[in-house]
Amino acid sequence: MYDISKVRADFPILERKVYGKPLIYLDNGATTQKPRSVVDAMVEEYYSVNANVHRGVHFLSQQATELHEAGRETVRNFINARTTNEIVFTRGTTESINLLAFCFGEEFMSEGDEVIISTMEHHSNIVPWQLLAARKGIAIKVIPMNDRGELLMDEYERLFSKRTKLVSVTHVSNVLGTVNPVKEMIEKAHAHGVPVLIDGAQAVPHIAVDVQDLDADFYAFSGHKVYGPTGIGVLYGKEEWLDLLPPYQGGGEMIQTVTFEKTTFNELPFKFEAGTPDYIATTALARALDYVTGLGMNHIAAHEHELTQYAMQRLREIPGMRLIGEAEQKSSVVSFLVGNIHPFDMGTLLDRLGIAVRTGHHCAQPLMHRLGIEGTVRASFGLYNTREEIDTLVAGVERVSNMF
Ligand code: PMP
Repeated sequence: MYDISKVRADFPILERKVYGKPLIYLDNGATTQKPRSVVDAMVEEYYSVNANVHRGVHFLSQQATELHEAGRETVRNFINARTTNEIVFTRGTTESINLLAFCFGEEFMSEGDEVIISTMEHHSNIVPWQLLAARKGIAIKVIPMNDRGELLMDEYERLFSKRTKLVSVTHVSNVLGTVNPVKEMIEKAHAHGVPVLIDGAQAVPHIAVDVQDLDADFYAFSGHKVYGPTGIGVLYGKEEWLDLLPPYQGGGEMIQTVTFEKTTFNELPFKFEAGTPDYIATTALARALDYVTGLGMNHIAAHEHELTQYAMQRLREIPGMRLIGEAEQKSSVVSFLVGNIHPFDMGTLLDRLGIAVRTGHHCAQPLMHRLGIEGTVRASFGLYNTREEIDTLVAGVERVSNMF
């Protein structure tokens, strides 16, 4: 079962103090802390295996290549992709979405074509489509939501037209915590013959994701949000789609043969991986996925669900409290405002109590606009957070509100 003190002991940073207070880290939506096994894997590989991958005949290069490709297999298994050809390593969700917007846009979209996104997208699932719109004259359609922070499925249906080429939506909102019904949304898109990209940045750390069960055509996530290192991410794509797409960047690794006249491209997934990959990070990401698999994604989800419910219930008791995002299906994020206290003031004062929360627009300005607010205070939970930490958060918020 879930032994929280044993779990916490795996994360050395949780022992540190800030301003003389025990650190209460509630900014997991931005990035997560790393277990010892992840950092140890990085140190170990630099000290004993380090060599560039894929090109070397020598022992170290082969060993590094084996670790790197074993990492790809771990990712494949984690999200249940059919083959490792479908796992493209990127720098993170942002790069995964940019890669797809560029390659899919080049091959399949022209002036007047449409992409459907939603009101609650992170900027990284808005701006790449706007860049494509500027380049190619495509249009962006937006699924609206209700005041609880749930997408309106009837409106979604109505957005499809003959020009719809792609749907790109977030699995879990980084502001509202809403878990979107992506399986149903994918089914609807497929009924119109339209493929779907899912931004899984806030889903993969919290719920078990099976890309075949979802029938997602593309799925993006970041290593650093799932207890892995920074600088590594994944774009999953169905092989039949990835095969049809042109390369993203040119360089080493992604080619088969090069003459000055003509280049032929490497097979999947290497076609999309120009240059030296972050092979240290891929091994470490695999250790992070091993770690969460070891705890059990279902246990993590249950633990975090309980924390989220408890936090919402306790925070609601505070006078002037406004919870932002009360979807029926909700993951480990609680956004709020109290009276007219500016989120920045709340965040700064909580910080002095050792409580790390995020404040501001959370890279979702169009969502803030829809809600008619400038920003929120956001507490986002990870697998190591506790009920006692939430009690401290609630006491902190009460204390700050009493000061105003
Ligand atoms: N999408 C969502 C929903 C996110 O929460 C984030 C990170 N805040 C991103 C995309 C971007 O992830 P990254 O910065 O790791 O590329």
